Amino acid sequence: MARLPKQVKDAEGRSSAAADLEAVARERGIKYFLISYVDLFGGLRAKLVPAAAIGEMQRNGAGFAGFATWLDMSPADPDLFAVPDPSSLIQLPWNPEVGWLASDLVMDGQAVAQAPRTVLKAQLAKAEALGYEMKSGVECEYFLTTADGSAIHDGADTAVKPCYDQSALMRQYAVIKEICDSMLALGWGAYQNDHEDANGQFEMNWNYDNALLTADRHVFFKYMVKSIAEKHGLRATFMPKPFINLTGSGCHVHVSLWKTGANAFSDPKGELGVSDLGYSFIGGLIHNADALCALTNPTVNSYKRINAPRTVSGATWAPNTVTYTGNNRTHMIRIPDAGRFEFRLADGAANPYLLQAGVLAAGLDGIANGRDPGKRLDINMYTDGHKVKGAKRLPLNLLDAMRALEKSKVLKDALGAPLVDGYLKLKTEEWNAYSRHLTQWERDNTLDI
Ligand SMILES: [Mg+2]
Repeated sequence: MARLPKQVKDAEGRSSAAADLEAVARERGIKYFLISYVDLFGGLRAKLVPAAAIGEMQRNGAGFAGFATWLDMSPADPDLFAVPDPSSLIQLPWNPEVGWLASDLVMDGQAVAQAPRTVLKAQLAKAEALGYEMKSGVECEYFLTTADGSAIHDGADTAVKPCYDQSALMRQYAVIKEICDSMLALGWGAYQNDHEDANGQFEMNWNYDNALLTADRHVFFKYMVKSIAEKHGLRATFMPKPFINLTGSGCHVHVSLWKTGANAFSDPKGELGVSDLGYSFIGGLIHNADALCALTNPTVNSYKRINAPRTVSGATWAPNTVTYTGNNRTHMIRIPDAGRFEFRLADGAANPYLLQAGVLAAGLDGIANGRDPGKRLDINMYTDGHKVKGAKRLPLNLLDAMRALEKSKVLKDALGAPLVDGYLKLKTEEWNAYSRHLTQWERDNTLDI
């Protein structure tokens, strides 16, 4: 529930990493590199490579069997190579002899079209061809639970309205401080940490930046939070709705497009200080929201966060409808300030690259087609939403969202058939596995029918 600072921060971290990883390893005392990539389901995969071998790996990539991860490949496919991007290098703050690298996937000498980082880079290139740079920030909510994940870790964290609870925040000081210190040391511009609206739930904010840099950091943030929590004997989860009566974990995205160093969403004469371009981008998100949901809310569990009944704290803080508003947290899109908006739909399970790519693809469609976002609704959507005629509803489950994505010519054209078809194929298998699962609820309600 944080605002992002107004000042722009450039991607300084990118330029500081030298291209020769062997030399960097010597200079910085790195003994091992994690050559990593993110698969279609958001899984972080890696090979741990000794510094002595990094030179060759930097040139040719680390080899993987693509079928063994969620990439829509076959066991008969040739080697998949993860070619590290040296500018993404991050030394693990809790173990600096290891350097983490985001990679781009290559097979048979060709970029893998459905690789999430490649998909995002392709979207950013399309925006760049129009003269735009996407800048974004993410708010990654997570729960700190017991090591087995069955309950929140802090047994004293039981308030009905625990948001911003100082004592509950400070009882996790050791973990929060280590994560925040790490972000500060990495130069991310970390600026606040708080206890969120659910018992056991936290959020930590760092500066917004170029969307690819934000996506790489988002990937690393999740890994870092999980690793540091584990070090302290806890477990961190970004699961969208781990406890049914508590507020779920969202991943709100703050978005702006920039042109020649200026915020192109900013217009002092525009409504709420947002330009026509910004409203067309919002119009694209509204037009494509149901299909986009398959990417931004990618799990069976995601749909227990959106469209959810009121939680113990009094509100879900998640949207139910495809609507936008001013500074009001009950809609899918909030305009909290001039020159940007907050997209509140996505959740903690979203693939960091596909999240940014999907938002940009929908927004560029809005710009290309001058999509009208409709009328801004300045009402409490939770209490007065039923009075609004014709507001589009969000998909009620993953299958609805997948069907919307399947029908979406806009997203298939923008993100490419290899990504959309491959994703839907794998997600359909996942849905089928889920729907074959017999639940206790069914037995309770059907046994005596
Ligand atoms: Mg929040």
